[in-house]
Amino acid sequence: MHKINLILLGPPGAGKGTQADRISEIYGIPHISTGDIFRENLKKGSELGLRAKEYMDRGELVPDEVVIGIVHDRLAEPDCERGFVLDGFPRTVAQADALKEMLAGTGRGIDHVLNIRVPDEVVVERLTARRTCRACGAIYHLVFNPPKEEGRCDSCGGELYVRDDDREETVRARLEEYEAKTQPLIAYYRGEGLLRDIEGDADMEAVLANIRKVLG
Ligand code: ADP
Ligand code: ADP
Ligand code: ZN
Repeated sequence: MHKINLILLGPPGAGKGTQADRISEIYGIPHISTGDIFRENLKKGSELGLRAKEYMDRGELVPDEVVIGIVHDRLAEPDCERGFVLDGFPRTVAQADALKEMLAGTGRGIDHVLNIRVPDEVVVERLTARRTCRACGAIYHLVFNPPKEEGRCDSCGGELYVRDDDREETVRARLEEYEAKTQPLIAYYRGEGLLRDIEGDADMEAVLANIRKVLG
């Protein structure tokens, strides 16, 4: 199978994690979520996790130098030789520049940037009813993607919880961060000819079908 390097862009709640899981399965490439990496580190109580938590709890972005180092190390792992789907990275122009540099020596850049578009009201509705598996990170929604058994993960039986940053006040702060710091990446990647708009305000299967059309 040929290699494919993808970025999923979009506001919090756009469905990046949900679609990245499916893309990962279909195309056999690792799903790399910087948010998941921070939450795993926090669970272990590592210094990185504690440092990231300060920012995450306020709905702010973790400083670029912290995030860039993590992604640099992750992309050096052997499973990324087959490609990857990045979910939640890059989130700033500095991160996008750093990513370009990381890939420069590999002979293969980014193939597509999928920009998942959803209105702000939808974001709030999705995030306030999101449930996340504490053990494996699987993503559920109380209405749109409920687990078979309340409070339990279908795939691993782990406990489902509400992320601290999914409370409405924090969601608003995250949306502001998105607009100020991440939205400029739309023009950045459009300028490179890599941007593909995906209508995200549709059911999960329809969004996936649109993505597959772009990826071929
Ligand atoms: P992101 O990673 O962009 O923050 P998620 O994939 O975690 O987004 O999705 C946010 C919430 O919305 C989750 O509860 C998820 O189950 C739900 N969700 C994702 N895609 C859709 C969709 N197309 N329609 C309805 N709900 C969705
Ligand atoms: P969502 O899926 O809802 O968009 P994430 O799990 O991707 O949320 O991110 C949660 C939080 O982790 C962010 O609000 C931010 O504090 C931090 N974070 C994740 N990725 C990055 C990144 N690339 N740069 C800076 N902070 C990040
Ligand atoms: Zn689970």
